[in-house]
Amino acid sequence: MIDFPQFEYQHDTLYAESVSLETIAKKFGTPCYVYSRNALTSIYYEFERAFSSDDYLICYAVKANSNLAILNLLARLGSGFDIVSGGELQRVIKAGGDPHKTVFSGVGKLADEMRMALAADILCFNVESIGELHLLNQIAAAMNKIAPVSLRVNPDVDAKTHPYISTGLKENKFGIPIEEAEQIYLSTDIFSHIKFVGLDCHIGSQLTELDPFVQAGEKLVSLLHRLRSHNLPIEHLDLGGGLGIRYTNEALPSIHDYIEALRKTLGPIKLKLLIEPGRSLIGNAGLLLTRTAYIKHTPDRHFAIVDAAMNDLMRPSLYKAYHQILPVSKREGTVCNYQIVGPVCETGDFLGHDRKLVLEADDLLAVMSAGAYGMSMSSNYNTRPRAAEVMVDGDTVHLIRARETIDQLTASEVILQT
Ligand SMILES: *Cc1c(COP(=O)(O)O)cnc(C)c1O
Repeated sequence: MIDFPQFEYQHDTLYAESVSLETIAKKFGTPCYVYSRNALTSIYYEFERAFSSDDYLICYAVKANSNLAILNLLARLGSGFDIVSGGELQRVIKAGGDPHKTVFSGVGKLADEMRMALAADILCFNVESIGELHLLNQIAAAMNKIAPVSLRVNPDVDAKTHPYISTGLKENKFGIPIEEAEQIYLSTDIFSHIKFVGLDCHIGSQLTELDPFVQAGEKLVSLLHRLRSHNLPIEHLDLGGGLGIRYTNEALPSIHDYIEALRKTLGPIKLKLLIEPGRSLIGNAGLLLTRTAYIKHTPDRHFAIVDAAMNDLMRPSLYKAYHQILPVSKREGTVCNYQIVGPVCETGDFLGHDRKLVLEADDLLAVMSAGAYGMSMSSNYNTRPRAAEVMVDGDTVHLIRARETIDQLTASEVILQT
């Protein structure tokens, strides 16, 4: 079992900070994502404290949760951002984030996105292929700009996580093979409008061990030494994101030990260290609140059919991910082994299997650890409007995204007139 300091029971009812989830459900309806401002802020400060010197930048991975309110809170804390699309750059700017603290990752950056990012003067492009480097050089030249670049190298390290979120193995689509990177860094004469400012990797997500981070870090530092011996002015080392969170009983390194391990791989080298945490910042600061619509007993199984589904939280369906599911109000009665499923017409539509709960129709459930890759991966499958999102701050609840309406869903669709 996990401790969620900002989501605790008071008299058998689950609270977000000082507000009961019953109250939130009544006021905002379900399904509803609920975040704790205090949880987010505390985790951000924990990262800050772990860096003992000033030479670092935390670049929050926007794709984990891109709500403007969350980006804005992080921007106010001084965070930078890691984006993977032009759309995410627009979000960062709208939320008051600083483009000069923003790095741009991703294997498929398009010309328009590069133009937008160059115009915004972002901190760095994390370039993942030679083709991308040529295009970026060409576009920067046309705009009369110099593009700041890190090569994202693929260090061929096993992150030991789910295969869909492993990104640092040589068979993955990500990054430039580390053996080829040095040659590219040395071809500065071909790339007149590129300035190599950094070196980058990101080996995967939900890592529960430090060893793969250390292996990747060591490979990058050894490359860094070679680049420096060629007098390349590399200013920062970006070691990506990927630190896992506790969904159930995983043994996890602390944020302090994680940063300490990254810093150690650097040895005595002086340069700026960047990290791109997503899940570890927001994952356990949010939950998905859902109401039980029906209890259905079949000869084989007990089903709790709830009003949240795979379109709201895709992780169980996509990765067989486990999320703890808690009753919002504890009740007395017989414990039953429930399959917690949504209304979507797919057998793959489940939030949890084999959960021992005392449950009746209309009861509220909290799907925990849903702050990261929850709302940001949601869809409108089955023409389901996306959930509302609220941010709790002490005894106040702020609506940070209204529930979608069916009219919004169909607004851009057009019926043939002939
Ligand atoms: C997704 C991603 C991250 C964030 O990963 P987390 O596991 O959420 O910390 C960081 N960097 C890049 C390049 C990513 O694609």
